[in-house]
Amino acid sequence: EQMTIQTATKQYPLFLGEGISERLPELLHTLGFARGTKVLIITDETLETLYLSELVSRLRHDYRVYTHIIPSGEAAKSFENYYACQTAALAYGLDRTSVVLAFGGGVVGDLAGFVAATFMRGIAYVQLPTTLLAHDSAVGGKVAINHPLGKNMIGAFHQPEAVIYDTRFLQSLPERELRSGFAEVVKHALIGDHRFYEWLRQHVSRLEDVNGEALQYCIQKGIEVKARIVREDEKETGVRAHLNFGHTLGHALESELGYGTMTHGDAVALGMLFAIFVSERVYHVSFADERLPSWFQSFGFPVALPNELSIERLVQKMKGDKKAQAGNVRMVLLREIGHVQVETVTDEQLVAWLEEFSR
Ligand code: NAD
Ligand code: ZN
Repeated sequence: EQMTIQTATKQYPLFLGEGISERLPELLHTLGFARGTKVLIITDETLETLYLSELVSRLRHDYRVYTHIIPSGEAAKSFENYYACQTAALAYGLDRTSVVLAFGGGVVGDLAGFVAATFMRGIAYVQLPTTLLAHDSAVGGKVAINHPLGKNMIGAFHQPEAVIYDTRFLQSLPERELRSGFAEVVKHALIGDHRFYEWLRQHVSRLEDVNGEALQYCIQKGIEVKARIVREDEKETGVRAHLNFGHTLGHALESELGYGTMTHGDAVALGMLFAIFVSERVYHVSFADERLPSWFQSFGFPVALPNELSIERLVQKMKGDKKAQAGNVRMVLLREIGHVQVETVTDEQLVAWLEEFSR
């Protein structure tokens, strides 16, 4: 499966398939990386153990291959690791003709992408996603690291040369990570593809259904929605905000509970249920026939707010979201499936809805 991702500034291919990484040297040649080019693979400890030697031996014949390993998990998106990557790139003698391979989930993709965006004012990189969530993070060119004062606060827009998505790597993905990525698949269906949503409802009722061909299809459809939105609005001045569906409450939950307590996808799933709940009240529509809470529950997503959370603090966090304008929360809502609209809501409304939602 090959698709083209188009942004205002660049066009690049996405190769998707089980075992596609076996063709990695050939694909890199097609992208214009000549024999002998220096390749720096940035990956995390989990993937190092599982797949790194396989990847290196595949590339070694054609390229000068170097590796840099970061710890697994969100905390690795730090300035310290960013700096260590730059040091490695310099020590290995990378230059403007070299290429970074981001081999991992969203953490590796965001960090390695930001390293590539800034090393010698920007060099090429290729995304090799290994999680389901990375169907979202590997497309669109947003790369970043975290600051103690805020997630993704230091970053850039830097599009990769290609995304090479081998779904074979996803076989080792733990269930909680598969579920986390599946939340973004559902998000893409709800905001941008009514027919894909119907397909999901018919074919996917448990996480085990997200396998083989269904997994590929979910990735492909999810990427199509994301790519379409990014094409229209690369730098997030308009419709790209639609991708934040479920994220206003989702980010607040992650931050309130402490990152890693709830996966990003679990937080977004609950955030989507809340956004739908609000949509019903703002637009006087009903999504009751969709039975979304019970569908979400069958995957193991949380469907109610954790009791210990203070609604006032959640609202403060939602206001602190970097997408909030002039102190008012902008929520991404659904008029109907596939039709998104952004609305400004007041603190009082949010408190009332959250109280009602948590009953
Ligand atoms: P992740 O990269 O931390 O991966 C999750 C866990 O799974 C890690 O422990 C990792 O080691 C492990 N893992 C990865 N691939 C595996 C495999 N094939 N087999 C076994 N284990 C594997 O997290 P993620 O959920 O992929 O990404 C989350 C990050 O993505 C966040 O930092 C978020 O900010 C970012 N993100 C970025 C964008 C964007 O547009 N740039 C969009 C969405 C999310
Ligand atoms: Zn997300």
